[in-house]
Amino acid sequence: MGTASPEHIRSIPKVELHVHVEGAATPSTLASLAKKNDVHLPVQDPADLYVYEGLEDFISVYDIICRCLVAAEDFERVAYESLELAHKAGVRYREMFFSPTFALRRGVSFATLWSGLLAGLDAAQKDFGIQCRFIMDVDKPSGPGPARELIELALKYDRDYLIGIGGDAGEAGIDLSAFVDPFDFARKNGFKTTMHLSEEGPVSDIEVGVRQIGIDRVDHGFNLLDDMDLTQEVAERQIPVTVCPTSNVEIGLLEEMSAHPAPTMRRHGVLVSINSDNAEMFRIDLADEFARVQDAFGYGLDDLEDLSLAAVESSWLDETSKNEMNDQFIAQFLELRSNMGQPARDFGV
Ligand SMILES: [Zn+2]
Repeated sequence: MGTASPEHIRSIPKVELHVHVEGAATPSTLASLAKKNDVHLPVQDPADLYVYEGLEDFISVYDIICRCLVAAEDFERVAYESLELAHKAGVRYREMFFSPTFALRRGVSFATLWSGLLAGLDAAQKDFGIQCRFIMDVDKPSGPGPARELIELALKYDRDYLIGIGGDAGEAGIDLSAFVDPFDFARKNGFKTTMHLSEEGPVSDIEVGVRQIGIDRVDHGFNLLDDMDLTQEVAERQIPVTVCPTSNVEIGLLEEMSAHPAPTMRRHGVLVSINSDNAEMFRIDLADEFARVQDAFGYGLDDLEDLSLAAVESSWLDETSKNEMNDQFIAQFLELRSNMGQPARDFGV
């Protein structure tokens, strides 16, 4: 199977569904925002902050980044810059998480952060043609009550660009079934729902998410294959799983990316997409992640194109938009193949 050059991979049109705006702040932006907002960074070189010993350690670094985001213009800057970097990685459409709990705890208002994020999105869409929608994460360790309050709060603001509710942060010791109520409430109000499940937790967390909470998508789902009945159900119902291999290696779930379960999930028919999770915090963008996946999984260009189309299918675009994007991507794949001297491929259209 033919493999793709780094240049070819970067040009493949892509959709990204699992990336956190706060984690996409570059070290230089972080240093500048820390100075502006009088936040002490515990390292000389801000790049040294982006090294982790586990999920808990990672979340503590995440909290430091969030402390550097205070004014609307700070949120605007990280949203804009992250979309600029995504554009350079070939991303055409992104559904991006933001986690207001960290900011609200420190007294930043929802109005401030939301207006900043929208301004960043609007400017990036105009400058780069990239499209983006937001998913608001509720903080699982804070519990279902604060999750519902946060969703109620978000309902008071502009909904055009807020399409979904997610659930991030740690899983250990959390009764996930308690989130049935806030996630039901979210769906009744027109939101799609997703949740970080089995990043550090067992496969039973995915079962609760899929069978009790009724989420539309699974983020990470790292241990899904531990339950083959559930794997079959997730595959048959085509519940998308957004995997983030570099993130899983960085946080210490596995040592080598080649041991990642994504290829086996795909062989079982699971709708898998590849994502950067916290691009800058892991010193990658989505094009880098595609290149790593090609090397680690022994994939070829066909697989990378299929993963890109799987992300279109996994998105929360309406069916018409999905079909249009699917067709556009295939036309661009063929054009790229021609430009890069790769053989044409029959996509069955
Ligand atoms: Zn994530």
